[in-house]
Amino acid sequence: MKLEEKALTTNRCDCCISPTRSSHRDSDLSGPPAENAAPASDFWKRIPLRDMDRHQWEALCDGCGKCCLFKVEDAATAQVFYTNVVCRLFDQDSCRCGAYDERSELVPNCVTLSMETLSIPSWLPATCAYRLLDEGRELPSWHPLVSGTPDTVLSSGNSICGRAVGETEADDLEHHLIDWVT
Ligand code: SF4
Ligand code: SF4
Repeated sequence: MKLEEKALTTNRCDCCISPTRSSHRDSDLSGPPAENAAPASDFWKRIPLRDMDRHQWEALCDGCGKCCLFKVEDAATAQVFYTNVVCRLFDQDSCRCGAYDERSELVPNCVTLSMETLSIPSWLPATCAYRLLDEGRELPSWHPLVSGTPDTVLSSGNSICGRAVGETEADDLEHHLIDWVT
């Protein structure tokens, strides 16, 4: 199998990183969200992705960090495989992007998540909340919006915390293929 680095590290949305940027409909966003404007419960069941406001969109991110892992693509089949190598900007202590506001400048191949990028679902893990909803599926029981706590992301084995290798420490990506992200 011939593997080539796929020059994409899809970025997570803002909810777990920065309240000042949005990956959704940037042109529609003109300022910080109102204080205490927490999304109503079960909003994701009633409101289509493309109609969600900034708070709703951001609240969907489960904070798993999987989208910050490097991927490789089989040149013959275009199948995408995950590695345990994480973007150099990923802070492995907080499990968040370490420079979110500057991410596009510092990591040009960090793809901003949007309805447009969702049209290529292989860029995102199968568990990604945005991908699930875009495909008409339910959020899993461990999703913080469903469980009521972010702790279930880690306890269910869906966080990359403690499982990733930093980009600067990793060798050939072909040596880092994993099967715990699909
Ligand atoms: S893969 Fe996880 S961290 Fe990344 S955008 Fe999707 S839900 Fe958020
Ligand atoms: S710059 Fe790296 S760590 Fe930050 S959101 Fe993008 S892929 Fe993730």
